[in-house]
Amino acid sequence: LECQLRHSQKMEAIGTLTGGIAHDFNNILTAIIGYGNLIQMQMDKSDPLLHYLVQLLAATDKATCLTKGLLTYSRKQPLNPCHADLNDIVKRVTKLLSRLISENIDFSSILTERKLCVTADSGQIEQVIMNLVTNARDAMPEGGTIIINTDVAELDDTFIRNQDYGHAGMYALISVSDSGVGMDKVMMERIFEPFFTTKEVGRGTGLGLSIVYGIIKKHNGFIQVDSEPDNGSVFKVYLPLTSNNATEMHVKPQNVQIGGT
Ligand code: ADP
Repeated sequence: LECQLRHSQKMEAIGTLTGGIAHDFNNILTAIIGYGNLIQMQMDKSDPLLHYLVQLLAATDKATCLTKGLLTYSRKQPLNPCHADLNDIVKRVTKLLSRLISENIDFSSILTERKLCVTADSGQIEQVIMNLVTNARDAMPEGGTIIINTDVAELDDTFIRNQDYGHAGMYALISVSDSGVGMDKVMMERIFEPFFTTKEVGRGTGLGLSIVYGIIKKHNGFIQVDSEPDNGSVFKVYLPLTSNNATEMHVKPQNVQIGGT
């Protein structure tokens, strides 16, 4: 518990710091992009300097993406919660993701037929799933399998005692499993830290999982990881079910193929 508390305090402090910087930085970038666009509009299309300006604006665009990520991470993005069925969110985002997954990856989802009523910011939950699936994709350059599962899970007092917040009860579970490179224990300790990445410069910022962690915590949910080197990884996300969740629906899982080969 002490370790969990230290972790969450550290994340809180880094969040406040990066949030402040990202906010000011964002204003500066807005000015750069604005003036850059003005120059571009007045420039002759044959001007040899136009090429440099386009490069400059592209780099500024990348910086904007990064500050957006930082702002999300620092939880400056307000939560816009509404009642939703988690399965609908998963279906929506998997449709989008199947376009980003290459041919050599078998991407499928097995969704429970039970309704998973949650009070959540759909956009932010979509972002969680997108980050987890893109990480899974990046963990298997040679191809493999990614499966998204949804289910109902009961979290008991023992589970909650090991967290620094939350309550026992019924949760919606989304798990993202991959057959990729996996991780050892030392690495698993660090993956939720902002800026921790093993990806090459330009491919990873190390913010993906810290954003995921922030979003899930804001929703009073939990995230757990199971992994072994060379043996793939499973990321499990638990979100509290709203009390009026319909439980009478069928339990039989439904296998849906959503992309890949
Ligand atoms: P980024 O994707 O920019 O590196 P993340 O915070 O999303 O940042 O991930 C941090 C690191 O955690 C990754 O660089 C990678 O080393 C590791 N990681 C995350 N997901 C997986 C996965 N499914 N399999 C193996 N390693 C992973």
